[in-house]
Amino acid sequence: MSNPGDASGHVQEWSDRDLALIKAARKLAARHMVRDGDGFKLSQHDPADIGAFENGDHPLIPDAAAGSRKEATKDLLAEGVRIVSRLQDMLYAQNRWSLLLVFQAMDAAGKDGAIKHVMSGINPQGCAVHSFKAPSAEELDHDFMWRCTRLAPRRGMIGIFNRSYYEEVLVVRVHREYLAKQQLPPELVTNGIWDERFKDIRSYERYMARNGTIVRKFFLNVSREEQKKRFLERIDDPTKNWKFSAADVAERAHWDEYMRAYQDMIRGTATDFAPWSVVPADNKWYTRLVVAATIVDALASVDLHYPALDEAGRAKLADARARLMAE
Ligand code: ATP
Ligand code: MG
Repeated sequence: MSNPGDASGHVQEWSDRDLALIKAARKLAARHMVRDGDGFKLSQHDPADIGAFENGDHPLIPDAAAGSRKEATKDLLAEGVRIVSRLQDMLYAQNRWSLLLVFQAMDAAGKDGAIKHVMSGINPQGCAVHSFKAPSAEELDHDFMWRCTRLAPRRGMIGIFNRSYYEEVLVVRVHREYLAKQQLPPELVTNGIWDERFKDIRSYERYMARNGTIVRKFFLNVSREEQKKRFLERIDDPTKNWKFSAADVAERAHWDEYMRAYQDMIRGTATDFAPWSVVPADNKWYTRLVVAATIVDALASVDLHYPALDEAGRAKLADARARLMAE
């Protein structure tokens, strides 16, 4: 990426620490990114993976022994969030690119927490979060991506989809009765419908990429055991009761079907222009670091910079300055 402190009148300097962080973030992001779905196997992705932090040691937090890792990684996340925030400021000012972040996961995998923590430092004006739950009658009367595509981010903006059109190849695939509610002409509902949807999604995401929207998709990969633990916490902790739904427990009976659907989805829709990040989600601190790192990577992959003024623009500024000083 270009350092905003180098060419054409850019005003911000990245410190050496920032540049090291950006480099490390891109490496961490790459570790969990799937850019080609061919042959993708979910079983090869460990939900409890904590990558290079395994030994309590990491180039960016060299002295963090296992005991102090929690604090150290918290500080690291805070630094990551600060970098996301600076990149977002440029994204917004430049008003050319936009970023679409799609979050998919089983219940209690930590979507909400990841969104909350990673986006905590960013300017709310430049960001919009949309949650997609069971569709309304109006939504069911439209094509399957309609309710999401109409909320795609404007230039300069970060758009977050908390669930998305991907539910259409996940919950709708596991529960075929939802497909029946979609009022599709019967001759269009064949066994090929999921592959057709993958193809349509790929086309849509390529279209978005060609129009300046950077698309990144996150599958927060939580294990069945960890989900159980978190459901029990939601039951036992009164401040978490509101998050608990008995229906979520019933949904565990379909775990294997969901995993097959996720695997197939990633096979069918992981592309170079819209990669999936398969984020280990049994450790929340690691999930959040990977999500932050992937956002840094996405924003660093394009040439973000503050709009540079041409000569006439600079002359206008000089003139305005002179007038102000003359008051
Ligand atoms: P979350 O579970 O994301 O934290 P929540 O529990 O607040 O959010 P819910 O009311 O559970 O929200 O809504 C999400 C539910 O809506 C999920 O079970 C999801 O599978 C379902 N859903 C989302 N999109 C669709 C769709 N297109 N068709 C059917 N069900 C859908
Ligand atoms: Mg739910």
